[in-house]
Amino acid sequence: MEFAFVSSALDREGNVRDDSSWVRRRFESRAARALLLASDGRVLIALPDRGLLGVPISLLRDRFEFAQFSYLGAEQDQGWFALTVAGEMVAELAAEFHAEAVDLRLAAAELKASEASAAALAKSLSWWQSRSRFCGVCGAPTVPSGGGHRALCSQPSCAAEFFPRTDAAMIVLVHAEGRCLLGRQASWPEHRFSTLAGFLEPGETLEDCVRREVFEEAGIRVGACQYVANQPWPFPASLMVGFTAQAESSTITVGAELAEARWFSVDELRAGVADRSLRLSPRLSISRYLIERWVAATTGSVLTQ
Ligand SMILES: [Zn+2]
Repeated sequence: MEFAFVSSALDREGNVRDDSSWVRRRFESRAARALLLASDGRVLIALPDRGLLGVPISLLRDRFEFAQFSYLGAEQDQGWFALTVAGEMVAELAAEFHAEAVDLRLAAAELKASEASAAALAKSLSWWQSRSRFCGVCGAPTVPSGGGHRALCSQPSCAAEFFPRTDAAMIVLVHAEGRCLLGRQASWPEHRFSTLAGFLEPGETLEDCVRREVFEEAGIRVGACQYVANQPWPFPASLMVGFTAQAESSTITVGAELAEARWFSVDELRAGVADRSLRLSPRLSISRYLIERWVAATTGSVLTQ
């Protein structure tokens, strides 16, 4: 099973993108393309095929002369950039290029895996840039650098550098005796359950975060944790690090972060999904991947077709 945002085809060229003349050559190449983001995070997809819209830079350069084009990387020597546009420009560009602005969660379900990854990078970068316009040390404006992957304080006596933020979070499938632990947040739709998750605190290992969060959210003590996979989650800028963990207790005490937590057997998962009394996370998420992987490991068969 695949999940979204983990199959990048772009070479980010992190070793050369600090060289502004390199980025400029990429930008001025005839092959250069830009994907377009709305400032609210939607991404433009091309109609009618619903792939990622890639506009030749030559069609944008004059109109967006003073805009920040962020360098995403190259695919087979073709440079890809990202441009964030505001308000009424989104509709105008969508009409001009036969495109539609779509929420990235929805787009990810239909884009090719590599396109979803590029859009995720663009979205997280754009979000960070919009919140890094001033120096956090001295308050002076910053200037973008490194193809948009750094921000430099414009005050020479300060010259602080800032880098895109990624918030690490763990997500865990806790299991014991053929059952797995899922929780529901109060803000979620009814019947929606997911694996437990939480943000890493400073100075904490991911394994300690798993133990702390599972106890805080569900009152369950867990022992051995095993890393499974990770997923960039650009809503706005997280990295979800996925684990499975063995429960050492079974009595649930729901904490403040959840409305409900329950143990589910494989049969209960199957029946709930079938009659829609249980709504799991979408297939693009690592949560769904952890659940389906556990079902396959426990029963040797798939959860759903
Ligand atoms: Zn500064």
